Amino acid sequence: MCVQVCPTGIDIRDGLQYECIGCALCIDACDSVMEKMNYPIGLISYTTEKNLEGKKSKILRPRTLGYAIALLGMIIAFSVKLGLRSEVQVDVIRDRGALFQTNARGFVENSYTLQVMNMSNQTRTFDISVSGPDSIELTSKKQVTLSPSELLSLPAVVEVNPEKMTERNYDINFRVQAVGEADVAAESESRFLGPGPNRF
Ligand code: SF4
Repeated sequence: MCVQVCPTGIDIRDGLQYECIGCALCIDACDSVMEKMNYPIGLISYTTEKNLEGKKSKILRPRTLGYAIALLGMIIAFSVKLGLRSEVQVDVIRDRGALFQTNARGFVENSYTLQVMNMSNQTRTFDISVSGPDSIELTSKKQVTLSPSELLSLPAVVEVNPEKMTERNYDINFRVQAVGEADVAAESESRFLGPGPNRF
C-alpha cells in the first residue's frame, strides 16, 4: 500500500530517498493496514536513526543552535531595515528627447519625470525641491498630495541661468519632503545638461 500511494513512485521500505517529498501518504496507508490487522502502527514514521536504535535524539545540537542564531540575526536585520524604511520614495527619469532647451527667459531648461511614492498609510502633502548649480530652480509643480500607497508620475522642469553655467553638465538632487515632517523625505540624483560656458 505504501508503494501504491506514493506520488513520487518510490519504495519507502528501502529507506529514506531524496525523491521523498514528505507527504506522509505512505505513513497513513501503512498505519491503516496495520490497524486493520491489529498490528502496532508506526512502521513508517518521522523519526531519527538514534530513535530507531532506542536512544534519545538531542534537540539542542550545535547545528540547531547555529540555525537559531542565524534566524535571530535575520529577524533583527529585517526589523531594523523595516524600522529605518523611509515613508516616501522618489525616482527621477531624465526625459530622453532634447538634451536641453532655452525657455522664453533665455534660461537653460531640462525636463524630467519624477516618480513619487507615498509608502505610508496616511495621506501626505510633499514639497518638491531641487539643488545643484547656482540659480537652479524648479519651475514645475512644487507640492503634491498623495493618498496612502499612491505612486505619482510627475513631469518636472528645472532651469538654470546660462550666465552661471561654467560646465556642460552638473549633478543635481531632487528632494521630496513631507510638509512639516523633516524626517519623512527622500532624495534622488540626476544630471542637468546645458550648452556650457562656450555657448556663443
Ligand atoms: S512520504 Fe510521500 S513521497 Fe515520501 S515515501 Fe511516503 S508517500 Fe512517498
